[in-house]
Amino acid sequence: MILFFSSCVDQGVVIEDFSDRGDCGVNPYILHDSPYAQGNHLIIKVRTIKISRLNGKDLSPVVIRRTMDRLNKDYKALDISFQLAESITIKDDDAYLEGMSRYQKHASEWEELGFLNIFYYDSTANVGFAGAAVGIPSLSFCVKVKFSDKSTVSHEAGHCLGLYHTHTFQKNNKNDYTTGDFVCATKFAESPFRDYNSGYVGFVTDDCTYVGEMANLTQEEHNNNVKNIMSYSLVKCRDRFNDEQGDRIRWIINNSENHKRSIFK
Ligand SMILES: [Zn+2]
Repeated sequence: MILFFSSCVDQGVVIEDFSDRGDCGVNPYILHDSPYAQGNHLIIKVRTIKISRLNGKDLSPVVIRRTMDRLNKDYKALDISFQLAESITIKDDDAYLEGMSRYQKHASEWEELGFLNIFYYDSTANVGFAGAAVGIPSLSFCVKVKFSDKSTVSHEAGHCLGLYHTHTFQKNNKNDYTTGDFVCATKFAESPFRDYNSGYVGFVTDDCTYVGEMANLTQEEHNNNVKNIMSYSLVKCRDRFNDEQGDRIRWIINNSENHKRSIFK
C-alpha cells in the first residue's frame, strides 16, 4: 500500500490494510529488501518554522539545538536521527495573533515537502495543549517553545511518523495489529482507560510509577506504558519507544512517497 498525500498536509488517518495481518504472532511491519528496513540508519531532515510578530525575533539557535538533541536522544534506540536542514521565521501579525490554535491552517500555508516541519509558537499561545501533529501520519507538528526540548517534540514527531497514542481505543479489548495503536508491544489497559481519552493523566506519581486499578495489566506493564513517549502521562516520564513502534515508523516511511522525500539519501 502506498500513501500518496494529495497535498503536503495529510489530514486523514492511515488507511490500514488489515487483510494480511492476524494476531500478535507475526509483526507485519518488518520490511524486507527496503532501504528503510531495520539495520539502515535513517536521518530525517528537519525544517523549523517560527510564527512571529512582524517585529518579532527569529528562533534562538539554542532552542533549535535543544529540540534536535531531544529528538536524537529519544529516537536513538530506533536507529533514527534528525538533522536540521532549514530554519525560517514567518513574520506575520495575523498568524501570530491566531496563534497555535490555527496550526493546521499555518501548516497548510508554510510547510514544505521533503522535511519534517516543526512550527514553534510562543509559550504564551493561548491553547491548552503543548504541541500537536497535523495528522497521523503527516509532515508537520506544532509546539510551544516552552516544551520544545521536552518529550512533547518526540511525541508529536511520533504522530507525524505514523504512531498513535498507546491508549487509543482497542476494539473488543483486542491487543493486536488491527486496532488501537496498531502495535502489539504497547499493551492496552482496560478500565479505567476505556472510553477515556486522558491516558494515564492523574494516575502517575512523580517517580513515574502507575497508581491505579491494575485491570488487565501488571504493574510493570502499566509502568512501561507510562514511560512510553506515545502515552499521556507526565511529560518528564516519557523517554522511550518500543521496537515495534520503530518497525511501524519504518513501515510508514516505506509506504509514503512524501515521507521518503524527508529522508537523507
Ligand atoms: Zn498525541
